[in-house]
Amino acid sequence: FWEITYNLNHLTQYIPVVIDASGAVRHMRDILDEPIRVSDRPNAVECPRIAHEIGFQGVRFSYGGEGAQIDGLDLAIPAGSRVAIVGPSGAGKSTLLSLLLRFHDPQRGKVTIDGVDIASVTRDSLRAQMAVVFQDNVLFNTSLRENIRLGSLDASDAEVEAAAKKAEIHKFIISLPDGYDTIVGERGETLSGGQRQRIAIARALLRDPAILLLDEATSALDQTTEAAINRTLKKIGRGRSLLFVTHRLTSVADMDEIIVMDAGRVVQRGDHATLMRKRSGLYRKLWNDQMRASAEDDDD
Ligand code: ADP
Ligand code: MG
Repeated sequence: FWEITYNLNHLTQYIPVVIDASGAVRHMRDILDEPIRVSDRPNAVECPRIAHEIGFQGVRFSYGGEGAQIDGLDLAIPAGSRVAIVGPSGAGKSTLLSLLLRFHDPQRGKVTIDGVDIASVTRDSLRAQMAVVFQDNVLFNTSLRENIRLGSLDASDAEVEAAAKKAEIHKFIISLPDGYDTIVGERGETLSGGQRQRIAIARALLRDPAILLLDEATSALDQTTEAAINRTLKKIGRGRSLLFVTHRLTSVADMDEIIVMDAGRVVQRGDHATLMRKRSGLYRKLWNDQMRASAEDDDD
């Protein structure tokens, strides 16, 4: 039925959010065997649609084994802000998102939306207001239209096209001989990396998410494509909370706020200029390292 054609790496962890929906694809979740199931409490309530803020309060989380991947995490992210989460590989950025999506519950502390502990709400009402875009997004060997519709299975064709317009991929799609009926093909090779990301963004927008999470969504793209997609993200981020996880700093310099993580903690936060002024700060070190690395690339 659905043929999985593009990179399964992240799929087990995230498919329920991308296509948390009704019958047709629900069995995907079973096939893929979501690794850790966090179920609703018997007295679970509806999660409020975010109006004020996302909070992490004294959160400690360990995947098991020794030590914790997140420890002593305190964070308040105002609704409607564009926030970047940066830091070295392994800092805990993706883990932070997975706690917000409630793939896991913290062992200590809590994650809140408008002050409500997300462990006490229904998973569906929590995830209904979120959408996620990853570095590798799953495309299925079906039409572009159906690939976008996975974001919200009951969306009309008009809604699919409106989402594609916002993701700035509509013009490309209608330039194809088969338009929205174009079959994506094995591994999605008919599309460039940037086009695949725009399909994934359209899919996410179809959910009209109050909270849009991007985990290294543009990190695999060349700089020109990345810059173009970042411009799109800036537009579609209006009126939503945007959490933009990346290890590439060039794309976050104009975010409202940058949160710098290291070893499971927030070590710095502020805007780019503020963070750069702190000479001994991790942000400035990461920035300088990246500038040096890209200068060396240019010499090659
Ligand atoms: P980042 O996204 O900042 O690169 P992650 O949140 O993916 O970091 O990982 C934080 C730490 O947790 C790393 O040390 C990583 O190896 C570990 N980790 C991530 N996912 C798992 C998992 N499913 N099981 C065990 N350890 C994990
Ligand atoms: Mg990560």
